[in-house]
Amino acid sequence: VNIYVVVKPVPDPKTKLTYDPEQKTVIRAGLATVINPPDKNALETGLRLREQSGGRVTVFSLAPPSAGESLKETLAMGADEVYLVSDPVFAGSDTLITALILARAISAIGVPDLVLAGDRTTDSGTSHVPAQLGEWLGLPHLANACEIVLRDQKNLAVKTSLDEVFISYRVTLPAVVSVTRRINRPRLATLLEMVRSRSKPVTLLDAAALNLSPEQTGLNASPTKPGRLLPARPVVKEGTIMSGTVGEMAQEILNRLQSLGYGPKAGGGLG
Ligand SMILES: Cc1cc2nc3c(=O)[nH]c(=O)nc-3n(C[C@H](O)[C@H](O)[C@H](O)COP(=O)(O)OP(=O)(O)OC[C@H]3O[C@@H](n4cnc5c(N)ncnc54)[C@H](O)[C@@H]3O)c2cc1C
Repeated sequence: VNIYVVVKPVPDPKTKLTYDPEQKTVIRAGLATVINPPDKNALETGLRLREQSGGRVTVFSLAPPSAGESLKETLAMGADEVYLVSDPVFAGSDTLITALILARAISAIGVPDLVLAGDRTTDSGTSHVPAQLGEWLGLPHLANACEIVLRDQKNLAVKTSLDEVFISYRVTLPAVVSVTRRINRPRLATLLEMVRSRSKPVTLLDAAALNLSPEQTGLNASPTKPGRLLPARPVVKEGTIMSGTVGEMAQEILNRLQSLGYGPKAGGGLG
């Protein structure tokens, strides 16, 4: 089967995000990026399906040119090819336009049997993109897959997870499916694979290659208009290092729980 995986480079969690007060968007220039964690699960799903049934796994990412380096990790994990979809006119695109641009890129290379995505990103996490991608491509789409089995070249069995139930679906391919992190444990690329991936190419697709005009993409084409940007109240967490004997410390914890309304009634100490 021919599989595409859409992968988003997200800010490295070790870096602190800053926001453009005018555009109300994250300032991404110069940010170190890593691959959005659930997208590695999507890639792992694609690689396992390829191991079972043959075919190719191709990665698509809409990101600034600087993200090319972090995308090499997908080649090291085993992707056959990577397309970086990037152009200055794409900057400022909301989820709808991001999905449109990705759909154009996918159509330009050729609609595959299956498009896999992560279920959400760690930087904005709307979960919009996979469903919007399905709509732009005119394909069936499913979210929150925790199990995917290829029945034959045209049919996929998909189990999705909600809070308290699982739902089984049978989907006719081609389709778009987003996966949760519980679907598998992504493989780690070896050092040798990482080194080899350095010399493998990442193919750039720009607006001209996708026949997209500046009016169709970016901030002005995006229906989402952010309102006010307000700083969130920082969450203050405090720790206390306790001292004394084990019994004294246990009593102290009990006293504190009681002062919060938990635990046995006063006077029923540990003894
Ligand atoms: C007004 C506005 C302006 C914005 N300007 C910018 C900007 O200039 N630059 C910028 O980077 N972001 C910008 N954003 C944010 C951008 O729209 C979202 O980050 C992007 O559309 C993905 O949404 P999400 O992170 O919520 O993805 P989700 O929908 O939560 O992602 C689910 C899955 O979809 C796939 N996916 C999502 N995004 C991509 C992608 N880019 N490439 C490949 N696969 C993907 C991944 O598999 C991911 O796990 C802007 C948003 C708004 C509202």
